[in-house]
Amino acid sequence: MARLFPALTEADLERRLLRKGVDARAGGADQCSDCGRTPLIGEHVHRVGEAEVCELCRARRGVTPAASRLVHHVEHGVSVRMLPRAA
Ligand SMILES: [Zn+2]
Repeated sequence: MARLFPALTEADLERRLLRKGVDARAGGADQCSDCGRTPLIGEHVHRVGEAEVCELCRARRGVTPAASRLVHHVEHGVSVRMLPRAA
């Protein structure tokens, strides 16, 4: 069978697929407005003015945030959970 792209190796294809997956995953993630870091699951992020900053940058700013929220796992709210059986 003739190769459609003779210069493209399996390693190239793996790298491209990995890069595509990483970019797609990072595209939907929250990022700190100050440092650009993606907050960890379970970490609190804070609304300071128009910016949403991580815990480290909030401490560096030294201001009281207008609001704070917990970073959930990507499956939060869409995963299936067992509920207690009704008596
Ligand atoms: Zn930050």
